[in-house]
Amino acid sequence: MSTLLEVRGLRTWFGDNSEPYRAVDGIDFCIEKGQTFALLGESGCGKSMTALSLLRLNPYPASHIVSGEVSLAGEEILSLSEAEMEKIRGRRVAMIFQEPQSSLNPVLTVGQQIAEVFEWHFKLDKKAIYTRTLELLHAVGIPDPTERINAYPHQLSGGMKQRVMIAMALAGEPELLIADEPTTALDVTIQAQILDLLKEIQQKTGMAILLITHDLGVVAQMADHVAVMYAGQIVESASREQFFNNTQHPYTQKLFEALPSEQKRQEKLTVIKGSVPALNRQFKACRFAERCDLAWQHCEDAEPRWINNNDHGVRCHLYDPGIDAEHIQSQK
Ligand code: SF4
Ligand code: MG
Repeated sequence: MSTLLEVRGLRTWFGDNSEPYRAVDGIDFCIEKGQTFALLGESGCGKSMTALSLLRLNPYPASHIVSGEVSLAGEEILSLSEAEMEKIRGRRVAMIFQEPQSSLNPVLTVGQQIAEVFEWHFKLDKKAIYTRTLELLHAVGIPDPTERINAYPHQLSGGMKQRVMIAMALAGEPELLIADEPTTALDVTIQAQILDLLKEIQQKTGMAILLITHDLGVVAQMADHVAVMYAGQIVESASREQFFNNTQHPYTQKLFEALPSEQKRQEKLTVIKGSVPALNRQFKACRFAERCDLAWQHCEDAEPRWINNNDHGVRCHLYDPGIDAEHIQSQK
């Protein structure tokens, strides 16, 4: 496999630099061509801001990219002009969101919205656009495309609207599709259908997917690789197999414990105590320390390093070979 997207040291902050809200705070990851890469975490961890920053769509001037590099197939894109960026958005990298409702234009028909992508990126004539739009609507499982092409968003169900969003994203034939909680607003059956559809399209087109989710079930179904985000940082990164067989970071372990199992369904759901720390104040050295059952003094004093073992990375002192965590913990 070869690398499609490489992110190094990305930082996106809100507010001024004197008391910033550090939404994304120094993250690194790589997405291979054709791969599904999941970014997992609770809300408020910086997942969506990461996605928006990759396309330089983070709200400006409220937030700004402080530092970092993002390269797409070897080309650094953070330093491109806005005009060059517009050629990448929707064409080489497309995005779908949780709420198709707010992303579709209510006064344009489905066909008109998809046509805009074809006109903008491929300069196709009207007839070609019509044919390609029908093909796409068919490909994403919209029944009666010749009728639905003239429908307005409010005439479609939530699942159908999400299919239209996917069709719009596919119109540009992107190398990378960013899907931010694409099924969270949908019921379980429709959710499974949409995830299957994304997989099927990926197999046909070879596009990579950056899947943003808080749902371990979605990760299990879709991901080749998983990165867990907590308070603006990546705290664990592994292949799907390693991730499910050998979960390492205490935060990730808590996410698993919080899963409702068959027996637990009747009982009270375990939730992770506390919440993601406010990202505009001083953190404990390990950002998870306040919620971690395994924390000791060192976790408040020294920031954990990124430890990488056979492509399984983790940011936690317990895995740092330079720290005798067992000894220190036994002294607690
Ligand atoms: Fe818990 Fe310490 Fe590891 Fe942070 S570094 S996750 S506080 S054990
Ligand atoms: Mg989000």
